Amino acid sequence: MGASTGTSPIVTRFAPSPTGFLHIGGARTALFNWLYARHTGGTFLLRIEDTDRVRSTQPAIEAILDGLKWLGIDWDGEAVFQFARAERHAEVAHELLARGHAYKCFATAEELEAMRAEQKAKGLPLRYDGRWRDRDPSEAPEGAPFVVRLKAPREGAVTIEDQVQGAVTVQNAELDDMVLLRSDGTPTYMLAVVVDDHDMGVTHVIRGDDHLNNAFRQLALIRAMGWPEPVYAHVPLIHGADGAKLSKRHGALGVEAYRDEMGLLPEAVCNYLLRLGWGHGDAEIISREQAIEWFDLAGIGRSPSRFDFKKLENLNGHYMRETDDARLAELARPRVEPLLGRDLSVGESDLLLRSMPFIKPRAKDLLELADGALFLFRTRPIIMDEKAASLLEGHALDLLAAAHRALAAVGSWDAASLEAAVRDVADASGVGLGKVAQPLRAALTGRTTSPGIFDVLALLGREESLGRLTDRLQPAAAE
Ligand code: GLU
Repeated sequence: MGASTGTSPIVTRFAPSPTGFLHIGGARTALFNWLYARHTGGTFLLRIEDTDRVRSTQPAIEAILDGLKWLGIDWDGEAVFQFARAERHAEVAHELLARGHAYKCFATAEELEAMRAEQKAKGLPLRYDGRWRDRDPSEAPEGAPFVVRLKAPREGAVTIEDQVQGAVTVQNAELDDMVLLRSDGTPTYMLAVVVDDHDMGVTHVIRGDDHLNNAFRQLALIRAMGWPEPVYAHVPLIHGADGAKLSKRHGALGVEAYRDEMGLLPEAVCNYLLRLGWGHGDAEIISREQAIEWFDLAGIGRSPSRFDFKKLENLNGHYMRETDDARLAELARPRVEPLLGRDLSVGESDLLLRSMPFIKPRAKDLLELADGALFLFRTRPIIMDEKAASLLEGHALDLLAAAHRALAAVGSWDAASLEAAVRDVADASGVGLGKVAQPLRAALTGRTTSPGIFDVLALLGREESLGRLTDRLQPAAAE
C-alpha cells in the first residue's frame, strides 16, 4: 500500500478543471477531501487543472473559488495552477526518457489511424501497439516530430486497494503506452496530475470513480518514477432521483444555483452532500464539528447515491430554524429589497430582524423567508391576494370592524393584550377565535397564511395595524 499510511501527515487535494462551474458532485469531492484532512489533522490543497486552454475560463475559476468559500471549504496555502507547471511536467518526462522508462514515438497521425482501423476491423481493442517501444530514434527521419510515451509494464497485473471500491485489478496488457508529452512538447493531463500530486505531497487521492481507470495508468507512471504511491478512494458518482446519470434536471447545477436561485444555507448543502455517499450510523443532521470528528473513508458507500431535493430542502429548513436571527435577516434583506423595488430603511431593517423568530419557522429556504417577511414592508393600502380578498366579505367585515374597534381601545400594544382584545370580540360575537383571526390576517398581511396574528399585530405596531384594517373597512377611502 501507499507509503503514506502509518504516521506521515495526510495530504489531500481537490483538483477541479475550470471548464465549468463548481457542480454539486465536485463540491462533494472537495468536501470529502477537506473533511478527511481536517479529521486527521492533515493538509487540504487546491489545484486548478487549467491545462485545457480552450475550455478553461477565468469566470469558472472564480466560480469554483467562490463556491468553495461559500461552503466553508478552506484550503491550505495558495491554490496551485497546473498550467503554470508545464515545464516541471516536461522535466519529469525527460527524466523518464533518460532512465529508459519512456521512449520517443515517431508514428505519424496517418499511421496511427491505419493501426486503429486495422484493430477495429479485427474486432480488437483500440490501443497503441508499442511500435516505437524498442526502436532506436535514429530510425526516424531527420527532425521528424515525436511524442514521448511511457514504457508501461506489459506483463502481470496491477491491483489498487481502493478504500471505497476494494481491490480492483487490471491486466497490464490492457493498458497501452500512454503519451506523456505531445509532439509540441506540452505535457498531457495524465502526466501533469501525477507530477503535481507528487510534488504537492498528496498522500490520499479521493475523487469520483470516473477516474478509477486513470488511476491504473497514473500508478504505472508513479512506479516508473519510484515515487510513493497514494492511497486511493474512488467515490461513486451521484445519480438523479430516478437512478439515471445526474443531469441539470436532477440538480447537477453549479453551487451558486443552490445559493442564489434556491436560497439554501451552506451548512445545509454541506450536511446534505456529506450524507450523499457517506454515513455514520443513522445520523442525518451532522454539524460541521461533528463531521470533522466522524469523517472517515470507511463510511463512504460503494453504490451511487441518489440526489433527493426534498431531503435537501428539509435539511435546509432545519438549519434555517437553527440560524441566529441577525444572520438570517442579513441574508433575507437583499432578497426582500428587489421584491419591494426599494431599499429598506434602518427602522425597517430592524423590523425585519425582529420578525425573524416568527417568519423563520415557516420558511424552508431564503426565498420563502423573504417572501414571508414581505407583508411587513408593503405600503398601504397593501395588495391582497385573491384568497385573502375572498375572506373579506359579508359577515367577516362586521367581525373585522369589531376587531378594529377593540384593538383601537387596547392600551398597551403587546401580543398578550392584543390577544385578550380579539378573544373578547370572538366571545361577544359568539364565534370561534379563528373566525375573527382570518379576516384580520387577510387585512393585515394580504395573505391567508402568516405568522400568528397577535405577533403580526405586534410587529406592525398600532398605527400601521389599525391603518391596514381601516383600508379594508373603508375601501373607497383607501383606493
Ligand atoms: N481535474 C479532474 C476533474 O475535474 C480531477 C482529477 C483528479 O482528481 O485526479 O475531474
